[in-house]
Amino acid sequence: MLIKIKMHDAEQDLMRLTEVMGAILEYVVQPSVSAADFKAYFAADPRYSWVVAGGRGTIGDDQEGEKEGKLMTWVKKMFAATEGTTPEQRHSLLARFQNDIQFHLHVDDNDFEFGEPDVISYVNQYASDLVINFYDMLGGKGLAGTSKSNQIYQQQNKPLSLFTIERAYRSANPGFGVCPACLGELSEGANATKIQYDHYFPKSIYPMLSVHPYNLVPVCSSCNNSKGEKNPLEPTGNKLHLNEVFVPYQRGGIDTVQVCFQDTRPQPKTIVTIIGRDNDPISASWALSFNHIYKRVAEDWGLALLTHHKKMVEQLVDDFVKVCKRHGDTTLDLAEVTKQLEDSADLRLRSDRCFADARSYLVGLYINWLRKDTSRMDNLIKNVAEQLNTEAYKQLNNPKSGSATRHLAVILWENAVLLDPQLADAHYNRGQLYLKLGEGNKARLALEAWQRLVGQEEDESRWESVSEQLSALLIKQSSPVG
Ligand SMILES: [Zn+2]
Repeated sequence: MLIKIKMHDAEQDLMRLTEVMGAILEYVVQPSVSAADFKAYFAADPRYSWVVAGGRGTIGDDQEGEKEGKLMTWVKKMFAATEGTTPEQRHSLLARFQNDIQFHLHVDDNDFEFGEPDVISYVNQYASDLVINFYDMLGGKGLAGTSKSNQIYQQQNKPLSLFTIERAYRSANPGFGVCPACLGELSEGANATKIQYDHYFPKSIYPMLSVHPYNLVPVCSSCNNSKGEKNPLEPTGNKLHLNEVFVPYQRGGIDTVQVCFQDTRPQPKTIVTIIGRDNDPISASWALSFNHIYKRVAEDWGLALLTHHKKMVEQLVDDFVKVCKRHGDTTLDLAEVTKQLEDSADLRLRSDRCFADARSYLVGLYINWLRKDTSRMDNLIKNVAEQLNTEAYKQLNNPKSGSATRHLAVILWENAVLLDPQLADAHYNRGQLYLKLGEGNKARLALEAWQRLVGQEEDESRWESVSEQLSALLIKQSSPVG
């Protein structure tokens, strides 16, 4: 997770729900108990009676014609599956559960291991189905039964569900609109509020963590889809320990790894890579694991930074247009532009790297990378020149365009050719506008500059028209006035 997210108020409720799973497993793996015993035992305990009761999640009647909760179906399958297993096998299933749900207390331990599914596989499969059902029940209307005694229910009068978890997460994490994995938008489309929950440790591999509060992370749909069942602990053939991966709510943050940029000019694309900090093997394995589960992220950042680069150039030119409108003939001060970039990067890198700020931090890193290299700055300046050229066009095409606009366009084109003397289009446009303004000398200089840059073959029709314009100017200039 590139944003370090904060745990929320639904933690205890989810933990309690996880403990209910434990209570079910603990009962089922005992010797000589039946589904009927289970039902009687759970119905009598107010903490667990919802597991056997009807109501939300009910799928039908059992043989006695009595309404029964959906979970009982899975409990019965578990009983059937454990028949004929040894007490040791059943115990190891429970031991695995008890071990795995403690993972959040061992994130810095070198020796913590998740349990291996070493019990007879079909028993394990039924156990997985049972616990995964808990997660499915959080969708939709949620778990009214568990919630009557829990905080969320009391605060909001709502059952424990993905909806109430989202509410709790939002209030603990202001700036929620950002995906903690990729820093992209969390909800897509104007009205979309639906987010997806990533089981950071996939529930297909770690079923015991299917409703564990530290394993449920709201992410954007593209992160969730591209991550799929990838295991953060197995980025390569070798397994990593918990202390070698990002752990949601506990460890993460863009500043704990190193973000590198690579220039691919002349293609307008920036390649972003995430690696470990210098001489820090632990940070290197965090990066390795992150890159494995979120393969798409670095590529998306490249595109996002391209958009940002464009906006940054547009903003520089917009600001310059305002100065020109106020002060008339002005020259764009490159030292001032560099200073602005420096200030902007410094400000962004001071942000606390939480939510919206994490994106800003990324942009700060990018700006710093840009300004620390002459050729990259030259490229930026060329982009500013191109934007000045475009902006001048835009000004002239404005229906309200008058003499002030023509004057502004000339200033913009003059600046464009000052910044990038090779920008042929700006020379041409400048020449055409000076012709319209009746400034023969300036028009001639601009059009001659254009001809020097562009070969006749490259733009034949324009070349001929410019040649005609130039000879007309020469005739005009050599003929006596009056
Ligand atoms: Zn995302």
